Amino acid sequence: MHIFAIANQKGGVGKTTTAVNLAAALAQAGQRTLLVDLDPQGNATMGSGIDKRLLGVSVYQMLLGLASLTQARARSPSGHFDVLPANRDLAGAEVELVDLERRELRLRDQLARHAGEYDFVLIDCPPSLSMLTLNGLCAAHGVIIPMQCEYYALEGLSDLVNTIKQVHRNLNRELRIIGLLRVMFDPRSTLANQVSQQLEAHFGDKVFKTLVPRNVRLAEAPSYGIPGVLFDKHAKGALAYQSFAREMIERVGRWQREEQRT
Ligand code: ADP
Ligand code: MG
Repeated sequence: MHIFAIANQKGGVGKTTTAVNLAAALAQAGQRTLLVDLDPQGNATMGSGIDKRLLGVSVYQMLLGLASLTQARARSPSGHFDVLPANRDLAGAEVELVDLERRELRLRDQLARHAGEYDFVLIDCPPSLSMLTLNGLCAAHGVIIPMQCEYYALEGLSDLVNTIKQVHRNLNRELRIIGLLRVMFDPRSTLANQVSQQLEAHFGDKVFKTLVPRNVRLAEAPSYGIPGVLFDKHAKGALAYQSFAREMIERVGRWQREEQRT
């Protein structure tokens, strides 16, 4: 089971779009996938076709120890992956978790009980470096950072990188940055191309090869509760996320081969 947090403390940078579409593309490729919605906005939940207003039990109750993962999870009807759904209740967890023991490790502890059930677990983090994001980072083996290739793209990245380093040092030795994913890319923009090249020069193979273009079909899909990769399979955005899923499967396979050799 490989667990990835999709994080960036900026809002609107494509975290949820990446989480939902990568989950759907991995499921399409035959991978058993769980998507964890850690954002009280519940966008990943809705985008997977699960109505956040109708949830009896959600990831909130699971984190507080009031329900099990099995009770909280739901199935994306179109996406064929499992979801730990979220809604506004989750906003309360931020405060309520503070007094509980192993407060940063609540998600990690729950996922550990289901290790054999999934190939991939993707965690959609909220746009903050909060207790919820911390739960995501403590549960994960790696972080995927979606970013737009704009002038301010690198601003704020150092806060995230420092948080990841601290979590690595104090709470989760397995955590590492898997890569930066360039999203909402406009190939005709000179600035976007320049920033993209700077990222490659700076971060080398930590930059994923896949470039996700700005594509209106990806933005339309959530209002139908269908992941973009299924909503319009042949749109450029869908093809990009399918290619990203192949890249992730390939990387994970490479690590497994490396581990077997050592
Ligand atoms: P975050 O989770 O980081 O806040 P979202 O994934 O919700 O970001 O994306 C913010 C907005 O941008 C949403 O309206 C989403 O539909 C849109 N969006 C994300 N990725 C793309 C893309 N590649 N092309 C077009 N629109 C996109
Ligand atoms: Mg989001």
